[in-house]
Amino acid sequence: MQYPTGAGQFTFIARKTIIRECEVYTESEKIRRQRGLILTLLRKKAPESEEIKALCDRYQAPVVDRFVVDQGKCILCGLCVKACGELSVGAISTVNRGVIKEIATPFHEPSSVCVGCGSCAYVCPTGAIEMEETESTRTIWGKTFSLIHCARCDKILGTREELETAARRAGREPEVLCEDCRRKQMAEVFRYKK
Ligand code: SF4
Repeated sequence: MQYPTGAGQFTFIARKTIIRECEVYTESEKIRRQRGLILTLLRKKAPESEEIKALCDRYQAPVVDRFVVDQGKCILCGLCVKACGELSVGAISTVNRGVIKEIATPFHEPSSVCVGCGSCAYVCPTGAIEMEETESTRTIWGKTFSLIHCARCDKILGTREELETAARRAGREPEVLCEDCRRKQMAEVFRYKK
């Protein structure tokens, strides 16, 4: 983002405390050009990501031959590691350094602590984490989990491990109903009481 500093510089304004009224430009010509350049580099890093391709088109990212093209879709933003650490169990991390840095489970083996919640895949901005789902299973990071369905409407609730972990943390039994059916059930109890 850009704000008129007088020197024509860019600033990550979201990280600054606003102490007086100011104008912030998020789509100026200069910003769009800079975004295009950053996207050029991200396309080299993750040439298979449809999301990055779409952004490159939107910001008319220049095509340059200078850099070595990487493979895959990951841009190493680290959001998946953060999401797993904060929302789930910390099953993945960045491994190696420099050009061979990547996100992985320990020793590239199916993780013993991963609960298959899918938070890492949902938060990934470039669709780099593969998650496959059938009616009864979810496969992610090389591990296949059984899916539990809502006892009333059959909607997918999550994996067995995910529900058990959430229940253990909350000190209660694992959920058997989805949020809608829970609300309906509570409303029925309330109506019956009246
Ligand atoms: S699916 Fe596994 S690795 Fe991904 S956030 Fe959930 S626990 Fe972590």
